[in-house]
Amino acid sequence: MYFCHMRIDIITLHPELLESPFSASILKRAIEKKLVEVVFHQLRDYSKDKHRRVDDTQFGGGAGMVMSIQPISAAIEHLKSQRKYDEIIYMSPDGIRFNQGIANQLSTCENLLILCGHYKGIDHRIREEYITKEISIGDFVLSGGELPAAMVCDAVIRLIPHVLGDETSALTDSFQDDLLAPPVYTRPAEWRGREVPEILLSGHAKKIEDWRHDQAMERTQLLRPDLLDTE
Ligand code: SAH
Repeated sequence: MYFCHMRIDIITLHPELLESPFSASILKRAIEKKLVEVVFHQLRDYSKDKHRRVDDTQFGGGAGMVMSIQPISAAIEHLKSQRKYDEIIYMSPDGIRFNQGIANQLSTCENLLILCGHYKGIDHRIREEYITKEISIGDFVLSGGELPAAMVCDAVIRLIPHVLGDETSALTDSFQDDLLAPPVYTRPAEWRGREVPEILLSGHAKKIEDWRHDQAMERTQLLRPDLLDTE
């Protein structure tokens, strides 16, 4: 069998929100094949409060609770004592915007720790003390970091070698080469008068490859010209 390439630990108040993305399809198979290990840690288990509270009111007043230092610090310290993390990630709307480049970079890591926030977020000192990367999945606010964490994990795990059946298939996805993917077709060759581009039926591998590249360029120019701006 393969050797386990990556371990991802996720600190969360709601592991049930994370379960299904890892229980189906490609992520499920990656875990079964031991290409990645994903472990959820219930933050409440680390709370010293007798009611297992993990949040408190804000200093300075204002609506909304803040996740307290004690349980998060205890969870991170405990996990850090067991392995060395390449990154300790906090999911946050004010983090760097997630993209394929970050996914590529994270896919080469051995150990990742992801912290999911809730309420108004976490005490800022936790961010200063432990967090090495803050990632946002877009300019909108969700109620918790679990869905963002699952998205990041999905994008990262499918890039781990041997996770996708056909080794080349991740390389031909959108963004991998700063281009959108070309259109794809399957049977039937004609549907409601719409025919599949003839070149794809020609069996001519080189011409097909050129056509796909042209299509990728054209679609990128049309839909996402910003991707073609060289820095
Ligand atoms: N008050 C915070 C938002 C808190 S939302 C602010 O204005 O920035 C609660 C939690 O959901 C956050 O701690 C974060 O973990 C998660 N979250 C919400 N939107 C997110 C996004 N766009 N990207 C990543 N995580 C997000």
